[in-house]
Parts: sequence; structure tokens; C-alpha cells
Amino acid sequence: MTDVVKRLKHSDPHEKEFHQAVAEIVSWVKPVLDRRPDFAQQALLERLVEPERSVVFRVPWMDDSGQVQVNRGYRVEMNSVLGPYKGGLRFHPSVSLSTFKALAFEQIFKNALTMLPIGGARGGSDFEPKGKSDNEVMRFCQSFMAELAHHIGPDIDVPGGGMGVGLREIGYLFGAYRKQSREHSAVITGKGLDWGGSQIRLQSTGYGVVYFAAEALSTRNRALEGQRCLVSGAGNVAQHTVEKIIALGGKVLTMSDTSGFIFDEEGIDAGKLAFIKRLKNMKRGRIREYVDKYSETQYVEADHSLDHNPLWNHKADCAFPCAAENEINARDATNLVNSGVKLVCEGADLPSTPEAIDIFLDSDILYAPCTATNAGGVAIASLEMSQNRMLLNWSAQEVDTRLKTVMKNIHHQCLDTAADYGQPGNYVMGANIAGFTRVVNAMWDQGLI
Ligand code: NDP
Repeated sequence: MTDVVKRLKHSDPHEKEFHQAVAEIVSWVKPVLDRRPDFAQQALLERLVEPERSVVFRVPWMDDSGQVQVNRGYRVEMNSVLGPYKGGLRFHPSVSLSTFKALAFEQIFKNALTMLPIGGARGGSDFEPKGKSDNEVMRFCQSFMAELAHHIGPDIDVPGGGMGVGLREIGYLFGAYRKQSREHSAVITGKGLDWGGSQIRLQSTGYGVVYFAAEALSTRNRALEGQRCLVSGAGNVAQHTVEKIIALGGKVLTMSDTSGFIFDEEGIDAGKLAFIKRLKNMKRGRIREYVDKYSETQYVEADHSLDHNPLWNHKADCAFPCAAENEINARDATNLVNSGVKLVCEGADLPSTPEAIDIFLDSDILYAPCTATNAGGVAIASLEMSQNRMLLNWSAQEVDTRLKTVMKNIHHQCLDTAADYGQPGNYVMGANIAGFTRVVNAMWDQGLI
């Protein structure tokens, strides 16, 4: 264990998520530190793991019965060396300062990889929007923003959406900021299309994942056309990953939700995807209803007593985990490798366990980690900031072209960096080192601050 992780464990013993995030990055960037011993004298790593600023605040609000409730709000502004802090908000009961420090730390490097001028931050609250009325969510968001507004601004910190923070929450947060600041500025991203939002924002993460996958396959002289693909999840990332795979001629065999997964040997085509979108986005239905509509297909109920997920057992060429953290364990990874999958491209955040990642890296498959592959969302959020500042609305085609370019560049950076550090084709090493190097070089250039 490196000194920096030891020091964090000593000073903040309860921040386990943060220790893990730092240990993970440090293990990959050691070759950079070995190459540049002068970084140690400048304590670049020690400075990186200390947030530039963490704000923790009280969020009182009144529920529909007249009872006052109190939640806790957070914003961890980790590093602004490359540009204004940028990173999403999460509203979920499980969060803590440690969660946001870990997420903000990872966000610095993901944002750096996009080559766009954005620093890293994350924030949110232990508020649970599920089960709350619109009025309760609005009152909570207004109270949350009453404090957060003191810490953000178009040149300072630009939060975006995230888990539990969708268009409804962004609307209430932006409205509260606009009233307080008396400006309609680029201070929040993920806005509605009629009030400053960007085209393709909704699709950006999923489309970006598939653009990265296409680039990775091209290194082995393959294209997505005709490839059999396993996709997990049925939410925003999964839906748009499937949409782009279909557009590029791939055949999607599976999708899932927390109750189970569907298998369609004929492939989920555009019409069937439209059914799933209506089912999940408008009717809040379950994926099992797919087999009622398309009777030649199968539904497999989730069985948590199993030590593996049978979705990953199906014979395929490519796998796109787009549901949740840790959804691919060591056994699933072994199954994927043994069944001849050629590419695993992550849509979700950290869907593969550390053991699963080791199995992928020891095999011959292309393994594309989320640090690189799902950066399309934050890239388009940054382009939303650019459009707001220029008072412009780019067309969907223009934004999509820029997204494709960003993902292509990320792919090249990962490949070139991994080759430079002696592990050609190792996208994990390439992504971590490329992001880290851009950040520490900028810190070096800007002096001791
Ligand atoms: P959504 O909430 O829209 O969808 C998640 C989907 O995955 C739901 O269908 C959910 O099922 C399903 N799911 C959740 N857990 C499991 C599980 N254990 N097994 C099978 N299915 C499961 O989320 P998003 O699509 O927005 O996000 C998915 C992942 O991508 C998350 O890790 C998120 O952090 C990450 N991400 C998202 C970005 C974005 O722009 N949206 C950007 C970058 C990362 P159910 O319908 O039953 O709830």
C-alpha cells in the first residue's frame, strides 16, 4: 500500500469508498511516478487526494403533511486545474462524504480524458426522491439550491444530473438558482431542450459507449455489423447503447432490469426497442412484459441464489454491461471469456468487480473500462455549457459528430498511452494514466497552489 493511501486511512478511517478509489488509481499510475520522481517532491499525489473544497450543509424542507424534514447536502470540489468543476449530483439515501470524495476523485480523470476544459467535482444529498410528491421534490430542491448557489457558477462549478436527479429535479434546481442569481447561465447541465439543454444529452452516454466499442473492434479489423451483443439494463444507458448498436448493424440479444432478463434470438430491432422505451420510460413497466408482446422470446427471472448471472452465459461476440455496479463477478467474467466474447465494453459505472477485471486483463479479449467508455455523458454536458455561453443551439447532428470525435480521441489516448507504458491494448492502464498525466502536468505548470 502506498504512503498516500496509508495516510488517508489514518486520517479518515471511515472513508472506505474514497480509500478504494484512490488505491485503484494509484496502482495504475505508479509507472508515471517512477518515470517522474520529481513529482514526489511537488507532492502532486498528496495534493490530488485533498479536495480543493468540500461543502457539507443542512437542507431543511417541509413535507406534504407539514412536517419539517432535514437532509444533508454535499459538494466536493476536487480539482479545477483543467477548468470549472464539473460532475453530477446524486440524490440517494446511501450517500456520504466518502461517496462523493470517491466519485469526485474518479471524475477528475474521466473529465480529463475528454480533453475538454473541465475540472472534477461531485455532490448531492441523502434525500430519496422515490415515493415523494412533485411538490416535496420541488421544496427539497429549492432548499438544497439555497445553499449550493453560494458555491457554484458558470466559471466556478457546474453540476449536472445523475442518480435520482433527472429532468424534474434539474428543472427545480435551475429555477431556484435562476431566481436567486438573477441570471440564466450555464450553471447546471441536463436542462430541458426548451430552456438551454443540448441535443443528444439523453443519448450521449449510450451512444458514446458504442462509438468506443466500434473503435476498439476496429483495432482487430472488426465492425459491429453482424456482431451478437449482450446488453444488461433497460434504463437510459442501456436503451441508447442498444439504439446505436442496432444503427450500426449489430444484433442485440438481451436486456434486463432488477427482476430478470429477456433473451431474443432474432434480435431486438428498432420497433422492439421502441416498445421497451415506452414500457420503461412511460409505463414504468417490467422487462418481463416483453415476452407477452413478442412470444418467441424468453424471460429469465433474476435468481440471487446463483453465483453467476445467466445473462452473461449466452454465446455472443460483445458484452455491454449497462445496468449497475458490480454486476459482472469473477464467474461471469470467466463465462464470458470461455464462451468466446471478443469485447466487453462498460456502459454502467464500475460494473465489473476487481476480480472480473483481472480475468479480462489476463485474457485476449478487448476490455474497455467505464472510465473511458461512458465519458460521453459528461462530454455532452460540457458542450451544453459551451452552447449556453455562446447563446447557441447546435443541431443533433452537430452534437453527435462532436461526441463521436471525443470518443475517438479518448480511444486513441488510451491506446497510445498503454503502448507508451509497455502494455499495448490495456485500456485500463491507458485510461488511468492518460487522465492522470493531463491533470498532474497542468498542476505542475500552474505552480504550488
Ligand atoms: P437507470 O436508472 O436509467 O437504469 C438502470 C437500469 O438497470 C434499470 O432498468 C434497472 O432496473 C437496471 N438494473 C439496476 N440494477 C440492476 C441489476 N443489478 N441487474 C439488472 N438490472 C439492473 O440508470 P442509467 O441507465 O442512467 O445508469 C446505468 C448506469 O450507468 C449506472 O451505473 C450509472 O451510474 C451509469 N452512468 C449513467 C450515465 C447517464 O448519463 N445516465 C452517465 C455515466 C454513467 P429497474 O428498472 O428494475 O430499476
